[in-house]
Amino acid sequence: MVEFYRVRVRTKGNTDVIDITQHVADAVEKSNKKDGIAVVFVPGSTAAITTIEYEPNLVKDIKNIMEKLVPSNIEYLHHKTWGDDNGSSHIRASIVKPSLTVPFQNKELLLGTWQQIVLMDFDTREREREIIIQIIGE
Ligand code: ZN
Repeated sequence: MVEFYRVRVRTKGNTDVIDITQHVADAVEKSNKKDGIAVVFVPGSTAAITTIEYEPNLVKDIKNIMEKLVPSNIEYLHHKTWGDDNGSSHIRASIVKPSLTVPFQNKELLLGTWQQIVLMDFDTREREREIIIQIIGE
C-alpha cells in the first residue's frame, strides 16, 4: 500500500531554496515501511524539487546561475497570455522538474552526506506550497 503525506511550506519566491529533507525523513519514519522509495512532488508549474548541498553560498550561486541561464528581464510570450510576469519561473521549474525519488533502507534516506532535498520556488512572489510525499515499500 502507498502511504501519503502532505507538508505545507512558506516561500519567498524568486528562486527561494528551502531544505525539506527533514520533512521527507519524518514521513519515512512515520510510515510503516522499512525499505522502499519516497516520491516527493510539488504541485504547481513554478516550483521544483531537487537535491543540492544546502549551504548559503551555493544557494546564492543557484540564484545567480538561474538568472544567467533563464533571465527574468527578457521578453516572454507567456506574459501576453495572462498578463503575469513569471515566464522565467515556469521555464526554470520545468528544467529542474517537480518531483524526485529517494530510496530508503532501514528507514534511512540513502542521501549523500552533503546532499539535501530542496524545494525551489521560482515564482515572482511569496507562496505557500504544498508538498506531496508518497512512501512506497515494505
Ligand atoms: Zn505564469
